[in-house]
Amino acid sequence: MSLVFVEAIPYDSISSLLRKVAYGLATTCVLGTAVYIGYSVASPDNHSSKRYRNPELNDEIEKVVSSLKLNYEQLKHIMHCLEEEMNAGLSSETHKQATVKMFPSFVRHIPDGTERGQVLALDLGGTNFRVLSIKLRRNSHIELTSKIFLVPQSVMIGDGKRLFRHLAECLAEFMEKEHLSQSGICYPLGFTFSFPCKQESLASARLTTWTKGFSCAGVINEDVVKLLQDAIDEKGINVKCAALVNDTIGTLMACAYKEPATSIGLILGTGTNACYIEDLDKVGTWNGDHDEPKQVIINMEWGAFGDNGCLNHIRTKYDEEVDLSSINPGQQTFEKMISGMYMGEIVRLIILDLLQRELLFLGHRDTYGDYKTPIYNRGGFYTKFVSTVETDEGIKFSNTRRVLEDIGIRNPTFDDCVIVQHICRQVSKRAARLAGAGLAVLINRMGKPTVTIGVDGSLYRYHPRFKRNMERSMEGLVNKDLKFKFALSDDGSGKGAALVACVAAHNAPEVLTKHTREIINDKTSEENSD
Ligand code: ADP
Ligand code: MG
Repeated sequence: MSLVFVEAIPYDSISSLLRKVAYGLATTCVLGTAVYIGYSVASPDNHSSKRYRNPELNDEIEKVVSSLKLNYEQLKHIMHCLEEEMNAGLSSETHKQATVKMFPSFVRHIPDGTERGQVLALDLGGTNFRVLSIKLRRNSHIELTSKIFLVPQSVMIGDGKRLFRHLAECLAEFMEKEHLSQSGICYPLGFTFSFPCKQESLASARLTTWTKGFSCAGVINEDVVKLLQDAIDEKGINVKCAALVNDTIGTLMACAYKEPATSIGLILGTGTNACYIEDLDKVGTWNGDHDEPKQVIINMEWGAFGDNGCLNHIRTKYDEEVDLSSINPGQQTFEKMISGMYMGEIVRLIILDLLQRELLFLGHRDTYGDYKTPIYNRGGFYTKFVSTVETDEGIKFSNTRRVLEDIGIRNPTFDDCVIVQHICRQVSKRAARLAGAGLAVLINRMGKPTVTIGVDGSLYRYHPRFKRNMERSMEGLVNKDLKFKFALSDDGSGKGAALVACVAAHNAPEVLTKHTREIINDKTSEENSD
């Protein structure tokens, strides 16, 4: 059965995976036995005649999968479109209509490793909310304690005041546990708030739109630093929010603290976004001073790339379905093709489509009539499953089987596993190639001979091939004389906010009390660490 399948479809497709399997077996010189053993290990006990795969089914599957493939010309075209959108976002004449907003942050200095002090940070990313306490020591050494808190679904879509009260409550609980609640001391705080904001100064920023499943009332157009500070003051917590950054900027800052060549911050988590260092004279929307350094970090908000339809030619019906069933239809087109919040759902929709067209899980369809099984339900296939499935090497598919059983598919065949893995690989590869094309635009535009890209986010961290696939696509797209490398930033988004807050507190001591300045200068801990 599997060998029929091998003959049926072209190279660089499902058959190539099977060919590799067959090759491996041939080298053991017991091809026949091994195919039998391999198949009996991998397939379930009952072989119903209904499960015989007609080769034409594989052609149908291949049609679906090839709609996810992006060739070099398509990627070059996407790069060209992104650069046009970036220029529109940076120009004061076109900024309003632009989809890629290119918000200037008020961060212009990259840390150099000499920063010192103790700072708190909040990191609200989309899935995780973390409270951090960070001590910046000598030689770029950082001491960090942190705790993850849950943001309940009801708070994510409830009243804005309730959200900020919740954040303040978690902060208070953390400070209590870490013995930071002494009166008379006011700690500076960096707030990583990873939603599109128009920044008005380092410590004021208005939310332009909610993304990533959040939709709290009364926050859009409001200053989120003020909303947070009000909630902190209401609880009587000894903290002053000194800076708001988004996670891309936090990540860039945290990486630059260790590696000064860092000029790009990238997020691949619940959502996706990037920031980079831009020359001030290219930022038409900049209304701050033009002092040295003549550069500013731009928060691209690249997740919205494609919201004007310019990516429609590469979107599939599954992308359209993901969009329509999201809480923000028509928005965050690029993000919905790349990030962790949506990747598993794209895979689920493809699997479900193939199942309903009787191209996958043959002979099982009758037993899947139970619409309560995860495969029938939105969000039923987690993005972490994509990583798990792609971790399988060889013919056993033990991870893939476990995942399929988790989503309600009992006894998948060997071919079912191959096809599901193939789908996962193509969906994640498309995401990596799109992100890679975006990064190539930034690297070529900056033209620096070597660039380090600081990255944070669970998709990048845990997916077994995302980095490799990005690198491969970028090798063909980045100008040949420019070198780049990735640096995973552990807790980067939170650490970076603390760094920015620390620098801000040094530069604007009037916002803080004398006590705070003593904490920032951190004389006692510095002496103790010597
Ligand atoms: P945040 O975006 O809140 O900062 P993370 O960076 O942890 O949080 O990203 C969370 C996202 O990462 C979720 O959407 C989840 O689907 C995805 N994710 C979690 N674990 C994995 C994994 N093992 N492989 C791929 N994606 C994952
Ligand atoms: Mg994050």
